[in-house]
Amino acid sequence: MTGPAVRFAPSPTGRLHVGNARGALLNWLYARKTGGSFLLRMDDTDAARSTAEFAAGIADDLRWLGLDWDSFVRQSDRLGHYAAAAEALKKAGRLYPCYETAEELELRRKIQLGQKKPPVYDRAALKLSDADRARLEAEGRRPHWRFRLDHEHTAWDDLVHGHVEIDTASLSDPVLVRSDGYPLYTLSSVADDGELGISHVIRGEDHITNTAAQIQIFRALGHAVPVFGHFSLLLDAEGAGLSKRIGSLSLADLRGQGIEPMALNSLLARLGSADPVVPCRDMAALVEGFDLGRFSRAPARLDPHELDLLNAKILHETEFAAIRDRLPPGATEAFWLAVRGNITGLSDLAVWWDVVAGEIAGPREDEALLAAATETLPAAPWDGATWKAWTAAVSARTGAKGRSLFHPLRLALTGQDKGPEMAALLPLIGRDRVLARLTGK
Ligand code: GLU
Repeated sequence: MTGPAVRFAPSPTGRLHVGNARGALLNWLYARKTGGSFLLRMDDTDAARSTAEFAAGIADDLRWLGLDWDSFVRQSDRLGHYAAAAEALKKAGRLYPCYETAEELELRRKIQLGQKKPPVYDRAALKLSDADRARLEAEGRRPHWRFRLDHEHTAWDDLVHGHVEIDTASLSDPVLVRSDGYPLYTLSSVADDGELGISHVIRGEDHITNTAAQIQIFRALGHAVPVFGHFSLLLDAEGAGLSKRIGSLSLADLRGQGIEPMALNSLLARLGSADPVVPCRDMAALVEGFDLGRFSRAPARLDPHELDLLNAKILHETEFAAIRDRLPPGATEAFWLAVRGNITGLSDLAVWWDVVAGEIAGPREDEALLAAATETLPAAPWDGATWKAWTAAVSARTGAKGRSLFHPLRLALTGQDKGPEMAALLPLIGRDRVLARLTGK
């Protein structure tokens, strides 16, 4: 017996943003948790807006997150399948030609709205005779094709929403084929899900009304109807609506800001579920605790501050070996262990790398103390105990204690008000740099 088959189906009309990365992650987790398979499907039938660069960028974004796929298809390679599906629907009497222009449809919509009627397609094209159609075609009109919905209550048991029922009489017959012959998403998606044996369609609840029509199309094409799960949408922390700032933030942006993939995964894997968000350093722990049944219909709120905190927590526990390739060239384990507790993102490292390996001129708060510190500076070699011995000597000579002892030294040596333990930093900075910073030369 094979496990469930799920898919993530981005349209390569842009890079992945946080909202659709969540869809990718939830599908991937579902597959890995159930021993199923994860298909990456590029929904690139919109030739005008899809590009190969965006498709490659999305694949990169998924790899960065650590989401591997078991199989891959591109809808532009499968146009013949959609044409065959459209033919089958025509034969079954479910796909009918319509000749209205976009302007005519818009005008009708406005009239319906003016009459306080729902703006549902009135099926005028169904009443056309053969002669009407011949006349329209002779005028040079090319038809687009709509799927004739059965007016009924189409129902399914949603993994997140429970029992959902939609009165399809309230929906317009969906257009499946454009007048230039190109299939639209509703057709290509169902044809693929059906033919490629997708057993579970897990996606955002913005697709919930599409689902009723899609279920009818699955049936009309003779495919098994998959199980559906529609997760709630992401809102910003204030719940003010779909967040432009966060929901539309691209993964490439977050990566540039020093966000760790596991911080984002940790957050997105649990947001909107009954389970708490915890920092996870590997996917196994996220898979282990994943249960789509724990997700609720309430909107998921994403707080950027929470993402920063997770990021910091994950970095604070990251071992040197796991991160050495991403550290400045020459950075040692001692450096990483000294500073990891003081950064929120890896981009914060630059400051501390300058402190130990670069040239800085820190503020000079107390010249007399710095002079005493210069005179008592121990000879090399230095270790973790040097700071304590040295500051004891400075204190003995100047009488300074506590903040008035430590703060001028920290400022002069690091240029920063606070930061990692000076005991750990001091040997990393080294005697020559310390001397230069103390004397200002
Ligand atoms: N390409 C569609 C989208 O990005 C896929 C929707 C689906 O999962 O069915 O909205």
